[in-house]
Order: sequence, then C-alpha cells, then structure tokens
Amino acid sequence: LAPTPTDKSGTVGRARPAVTEDLRRNNLASLVRHLHLSGPLSRSNLTVRTGLNRSTIGDLVGELSAVGLVQETAPPSRAGAGRPSLVVSLGPGRVWALSIELAPETLVAARVAPGGRIEDRLAFQRDWQAHLAPEMAASVIADLARELIARAPRNARLVGAAAAVPGIVRREDGFVHLAPNLLWREAPFGSLLSGHLSSPHGVVVANEADLAALAESTRGAAVGCPNSIYISGNTGVGAGIIVQGSLLAGRSGYAGEVGHMKVNPGGRRCHCGGRGCWETEIGAAAILRRAGRKSKDLRPAVLQVLEDAGGGDAAASKAVRETVQWIGRGTADLINIFNPDLVVFGGNLREVVLASQRALRTEVRRHALPQAGAEANIVVSALGPDAALLGAAELGFSRFLADPVGVLAAAG
Ligand SMILES: [Zn+2]
Repeated sequence: LAPTPTDKSGTVGRARPAVTEDLRRNNLASLVRHLHLSGPLSRSNLTVRTGLNRSTIGDLVGELSAVGLVQETAPPSRAGAGRPSLVVSLGPGRVWALSIELAPETLVAARVAPGGRIEDRLAFQRDWQAHLAPEMAASVIADLARELIARAPRNARLVGAAAAVPGIVRREDGFVHLAPNLLWREAPFGSLLSGHLSSPHGVVVANEADLAALAESTRGAAVGCPNSIYISGNTGVGAGIIVQGSLLAGRSGYAGEVGHMKVNPGGRRCHCGGRGCWETEIGAAAILRRAGRKSKDLRPAVLQVLEDAGGGDAAASKAVRETVQWIGRGTADLINIFNPDLVVFGGNLREVVLASQRALRTEVRRHALPQAGAEANIVVSALGPDAALLGAAELGFSRFLADPVGVLAAAG
C-alpha cells in the first residue's frame, strides 16, 4: 500500500473501524478537492497527486460515482498509445453552493458548482444612496435564493451557503459591526439571513475583500503564492491578507481593514470617525473629487476618468496620477509589514492599476524597503467582478470538501 498524505494514523490494516472510516473520508475528500481545484483529471494523474495507489483510486471513484458526484469519460484516443487512463470529473449539477454578494448597488445570489463555475445568478439592482435595512436585504436575498433553488436541476443538492459583505464582519456569527457603504451599523445580518433562508447549516457571512482574496488564491491571480494581499477598492477600500496559505482573520475576523490606515494625518474626515484614512485618498470618491467630477454611478464615472486620462485630459490625468501616488504609499507600507509574494488589486482599483502599472511600481519602489519591495509582484485580479462571489462559494463548499459523501447524504 502506497503511503498516503491523508494517512496520519499509522494504523492502516489494523481492525479499527473508526480510523478506517476517517481514512476513507479523508481520501474521498482529497480526491474531490483535487478535482475541485484542478478540474478533470485522469485516474493516473489522481494517483500521482493524491499519493494513493491505483486500486484505492478505483474504489474511491466508484464510491463517488455511485452517488453521482463524479463521472468518468474516455480521453481522446491517441494512435499507438496503451490503454488510456479514464478522465474523472465532478458530475455536473449534483451539488452546489449558494453564493451571495452584497454591494452598495446590487445584491447578487448565485448557484455555483464545484470548480468555481457560476451556473446561475440573479441580481437585484438598487439605488446605492437609498437606505437598505438589513432585514430587507436578507428578505430580498432569500427571495433570490428560493428562485435559484427552484431553477436548479432536480437532482442538485445545496451543500452550503456564504455571503460577502463590504464591511467589518464578526466571523463567528456574521454580525456586521459596520458596513458604511450600506449604511449599516451593528446589524445581526448572519442570523437574519439564516432565519430567512431556513438553511440547516446557516449562512456564513464574511468580508468581501477576504473572500475575494480566498478566491484569487484558490483559482485566480494568486494561485501558488503562499503570501498575498488582495486590495479591494470600490466605494470603500479593504484587503484580504493570505499568510502562509491561510487567510489572516485576527481574533474575531476583523483583520485587513487597510482602508483605515491613517496615511494622511492632515487629510479628510472618514466615515469611520478618523482622519486621512487610505480610503479617503484612493476610494472611488477620491478619484472623482480630484478630477472635479460628481456622479451617482461611481464605477462608470471612475472608468470615464481613466478613459479621459488615457485620451490626454489634463484634469483626469492629474487625478489618476495623484491617486496612484497614494495607492503606492499605502501599498508600500503593506509590503513592508507583510512581505508578500504578490499584491492583487481588485474592484475599481483593478482598472486604475491596469492604466498605471508602471507608475505604481515606481511609487511602491520609492516607499517600500528595498528587499520586500523588490520581492512583491503587483498584479490585477484575474477573477474580476466575480472574485468575492467565487470566494463566498469556496467558503460555502468548505464543509462539503471536508466530507463530500457525508454532506451530500445529509443534504438529502
Ligand atoms: Zn477610516
């Protein structure tokens, strides 16, 4: 028997049913996780990746196939080759995660399949300046979720749910302390949502930048980087920080509020009560303010400033240049503190950084310590506007990925 990465007990072969059961569950989880992260894989590839032997892989695939979680197909035939190894993939439409994203302008609910494939999505557009009570948001999302459930394939089972919120969220129970761009303070959103959805396992609520960071490191720009920082900049600015492959949560899940670093002591008042926060210098409102513009639709307006700057408009160019200087200063501080492999920019900052990558690198090098500054790559989000939604799906799938057959059975 080949040694397996999941065999930590050292008791394989002894008559200890509980241990054997644990080992089997871990092996099933390992196989499903590989397919979830890498897509379809041949049996021989799975053997290499999991460290399990061929007959064990055959047994596990058989068990997963019996409950519809995987399917096998013959690879394209090659003349002269030996008997080809069957390709294993996660069966379509068998399980899904309910992924929710709250943004100031829109509430989104999506049916996401393993492998991070968004199979269905429903959105509720709203006036971002109008107040949206947490109870109302939970009720709207529950309606969207019910419609998604009704539209899902008959055989599909919902195995988890998570929501991304642009605010300071207590991970334990999804309590939102502050979501300034939703005008929320002290909102028990996690329990409201779980109540409305009557989900047996509740809905995990997390900060949107944290979830986007998780998605980028799982299947986006930061794959293979153990240390990365995802900086999300829209109306507000936040970060998800991955340290040694794990999301930095802090004591209660509040870590990563980089938008409130006091970068400019003489700067503007921030809605958090502080002054000169990074958000007041690099958020969407700051770019528009510098360009001398006003708009209700922040994202299109920011994109217009970038386009005009590219076309030679002096005020727009100056606005972008100054904003990039502030982005560079704050990023340099983060690089000095965390020594990441990679800094990923998302939200509106994705486009700002794309338009000024060279200027930003110069600015970062000017302010960062030479060693850490030279080691950190600066890139933009590979997943774009879906990053937080896909991160919520990863969180939604976490129980399933730990025990695929058990969680499927419990889902009926
Ligand atoms: Zn602030």
